Formats: sequence, C-alpha cells, structure tokens
Amino acid sequence: DIVSFDGFLTHWAAERPEWAALSQDDHHFTYGQLEERTAKIVGMLLGLGLKKGDRIAWIGKNSDLYFALFYGAARIGIVMVPVGWRLAPAEWAYIAKDTGARVLFAGQGFEAGVQALARDIDGVDRVIAEEEARALIDASARIAFEPAGPDDAVLQLYTSGTTGNPKGAVLSNRNLFALRKNAGEEEHAYSKWEDDEVVLIAMPCAHIGGTGLGIMAMASGLPALVQAEFSPDSVFDAIEKGGATRLFIVPAALQMMVNHPRCRSVDYSRLKYILYGAAPIPLELLRQCMDVFSAEFIQVYGMTETTGTICMLPPEDHDPNGNTRMRSAGKPLPGVELRVVDGAGNDVPVGEVGEIWTRSSNNMIGYWNLPDATKGTVADGGWIKTGDAGYLDEDGYMYIHDRVKDMIITGGENVYPAEVESAIYGHPDILEVAVIGVPDAKWGESVKAVCVPKPGAQIDPESVIGWARERIAGFKVPRSVDIIAALPRNASGKILRKDLRAPYWAGFE
Ligand code: ATP
Ligand code: MG
Repeated sequence: DIVSFDGFLTHWAAERPEWAALSQDDHHFTYGQLEERTAKIVGMLLGLGLKKGDRIAWIGKNSDLYFALFYGAARIGIVMVPVGWRLAPAEWAYIAKDTGARVLFAGQGFEAGVQALARDIDGVDRVIAEEEARALIDASARIAFEPAGPDDAVLQLYTSGTTGNPKGAVLSNRNLFALRKNAGEEEHAYSKWEDDEVVLIAMPCAHIGGTGLGIMAMASGLPALVQAEFSPDSVFDAIEKGGATRLFIVPAALQMMVNHPRCRSVDYSRLKYILYGAAPIPLELLRQCMDVFSAEFIQVYGMTETTGTICMLPPEDHDPNGNTRMRSAGKPLPGVELRVVDGAGNDVPVGEVGEIWTRSSNNMIGYWNLPDATKGTVADGGWIKTGDAGYLDEDGYMYIHDRVKDMIITGGENVYPAEVESAIYGHPDILEVAVIGVPDAKWGESVKAVCVPKPGAQIDPESVIGWARERIAGFKVPRSVDIIAALPRNASGKILRKDLRAPYWAGFE
C-alpha cells in the first residue's frame, strides 16, 4: 500500500508517465513531468534552508503552482499551509504568524499584500511571488532526499472559522491517503474513479474540499483541472470544453449555478458526478440541481479535522420522488466509526439526536499550537467531537441537524435552523434564508428567519410564516421575519450565524 506523496508520485511517473496530471490555463503537466517538477521543488526548498517539519504558506488563488509546491514539500515532510485569499489581511497575519512559516509564497495579484504582511510579522525571511517561484523551480536540480513517512505532517489546514478563530488542523500522509484507502475498500461511486475521469478543482485550496480533491485525483493517477476561483461560467466551461467528469461544489455555489441563465443549455454529456457538502443543503435546492444538471449526485459530510469526508450519500439514495434519504448525509465510509452521544458522552439510542463523534485514520494529528483546543475536540480513545448535532437511523444513515451551538431552544423545544431553512427555501420570493434564535421574554428564544429576496421580489413576512406553517411543526415556524440584502458568509460559503445573531443579542449575552 502506498501511503505518501513521494510514493504516489513515483508510482504514477513509472506507471503512466504520459498521462495528464495537472493543468491550469496553458500550464500542463503529465505524471512524468509532475514527478520531475516536485523533485526539483524538493531541491529548491532544501536550498532555501528549509527542513522536514518546517511550515511554508501559500497566499493566493488556486494554482497549478500551489499544487506542485504542496506535493513537492510533502515529499520531504515540509508542511504546506494554504491561506484563504478572501480572508482579511489581519486574518492572513494571524495564520501566518501562528504557523511560524519563514517562507511565504504569494499567488498572482497578492505580491504586495504578502510583502506588507511579511514586514509586519517577525520571522519571515522570504516572500516568493509566482513568477519567481516558477523560475527558481526551473533552475533547481533533483537531489537525493529522505522521503517523509506515513505519520509525518504534510498539510496544515485552517478550519473555516465559522464558530470562532480558525484553528490549524495538522494532517499527515496517512490522514490524507487513509481517506482514499477507506474509500477504496468498497466499490462505490465515491471511490470508484474510472480511468476516463477528469477532476475539477473549483473550490478554494485553503479548504479540504479544494485541496483534498486534488490529492484524491493525484492518488488515483487522474488529471486535475485547476481553476483560480469559482464562477458558474468557469465551471460550465470546464464541463463543456475541459471535459470535467467530477466536481465538488458547496451548496452556496450550486445555488449560483442553478440560478445562472446558462445552466439549462450546457452540454453535460461528459459530466458524471457532482459531489456536494460542507454545509447543509436545502432539499428544494438539491431537487432543482438534480433537475438541471444531468449528473449523479453524491453528498459528503466531514470536517477539516477529519481530512474531509467521513460520511457519503451515494447516487442510489438520490431519488427526488419522495425518498426521505435525500435528507441524510449518508453512511460512514468503510473504516470510519461514528457515535451519537449525549452531553455526558454516553451513546443515545438510534433515532435520537445527540453530538456526532467519529474515529478513523482520517482523524488529524491535532491542532497546531493549541493543546487545550485539541483536548477539547479529541476525546479519550481518539474520538473527534464534531460539534454537529445529528442522529442515526436504523439502517445506519446519518442525519445532520446542525451545529450543536446553533440549536435554538424555544419554550423547551429544540429547533435546528437547517430544517426550518430547508422548509422556507422553496418560497417563490426568497433567494436565500438563514434561521437564528433571538431573545424572547416568554420562550427564552424564538425562531427568526432572515430572508434575502429574489431580484425584483418583495417578501411578505406573513406569507413566509404561512409557507413554513404548511411544512413544519408549529414550534419550528418562525415568529418573525426580517429582510436583508445578502447573508454574511465565509469563504467556504457558510452562513456566519454568529454575525447574523450579534445585533439581536447585543445587551443579552
Ligand atoms: P470552525 O470549526 O472554525 O468553526 P467549520 O466547522 O465551518 O469552522 P470546516 O471544517 O470547514 O470548518 O467545516 C466542517 C463543518 O461543516 C462540519 O462540522 C459541519 O458543521 C459542516 N458540514 C460539512 N459537511 C456537511 C454536510 N454534508 N451537511 C451539513 N453540514 C456539513
Ligand atoms: Mg468546525
């Protein structure tokens, strides 16, 4: 079994040297060339005085250069930290400082920002811009090196920061490739990647959904198409002209795609699978996507700390005609253990909601520099506490409700925002909706829907309440409706409920 970047790169360079491996715009690398290039990158990094265990950071959009640098660094156990380019410079500084990286790579357009950042924090010796990096690689030579082992750290990904400060999850070779091994033990759509597949990386590389998909493609010896950033048009182009067969897209991006004028005229004949996840998807949106995009759908559930996917809902369970499983995030992948526990850490019966805990070789090494946070997340026995509420049904399907922290308690009843949002989603005047709990003298908290109207539409609060009342239990129906121009979201498309809640709770918390 191969459990390292060095192992896979050497393997595919020997097995299929002429196969397309990585491309973006007019940069194209075969597996033979990718092995050669990453070996030169090893030479370049060692030449910069870096050694195993050191961190390097990438601040920029998705780029073939990022992937090559990451794979090269990983061959010797230098840890890549991709930093979200949409974050504010203060957040870049927080992460760059936290990593202790001495060398920062700046993607195109980010040179000045990264230079400024480097002047502000101690310990950064060098900022290398994209063109300079490409020239340095070309000028470097392949040299002998000791490859990193399965348990060496190779990637440090910061969590999305949806609930607080982002935390650096440190992932090893084994974490990254266990994911593939887990998947490969059983033949199903998630793991069975055919040789004619082309993988599209359209989600940001600072998240597991972007970088992780690249890793899966490389480990499978398949071509990865890299896009600098998501736009519906560029994804449609990659499907029509680039021959993309497999994509991972978050719900917020799918929503932009189904509302795009081009969506019904694209030629989807090459497209096979759309993977979606990272946030709850409203059922109505999933139905729309299944109607518009001719592809098979796979839902994935996981988190940065579990190197991405731990549960998967396969195409067979996507049946728009009344199949209740479409509300589920599916079953754990082979090798993944799940528990649903109460506040005391005891298992709750099947069908009852609790916190989801998970254990597998996907579980991260720990959070960088945060021993207390690591202890708070990793329970005795190596279980990761996901912070998500959910339940398992009798057939072992996981239903995710929401984050435990986002649960609304109104008059003693528990309400999960995602269910209410999903119910409201199909309302004809509503583009987007987020549900939160607001202070209520009588009920403790009451349910509020914050809605974004469709272009040109007017939202009547009473009609939203009426719409919800026809679809969900009375205690879940919003008591009030507010209208907003856009929902606050982070770079991974997640609703920042803490920001949305803040004005209503000022003076209460
Ligand atoms: P932070 O931990 O910094 O607050 P985050 O949890 O949003 O940020 P990620 O690791 O990117 O950071 O996201 C993992 C979370 O995303 C999960 O814990 C879960 O809440 C949500 N999630 C992922 N997949 C799904 C899914 N299929 N359905 C519903 N929610 C999902
Ligand atoms: Mg989290």
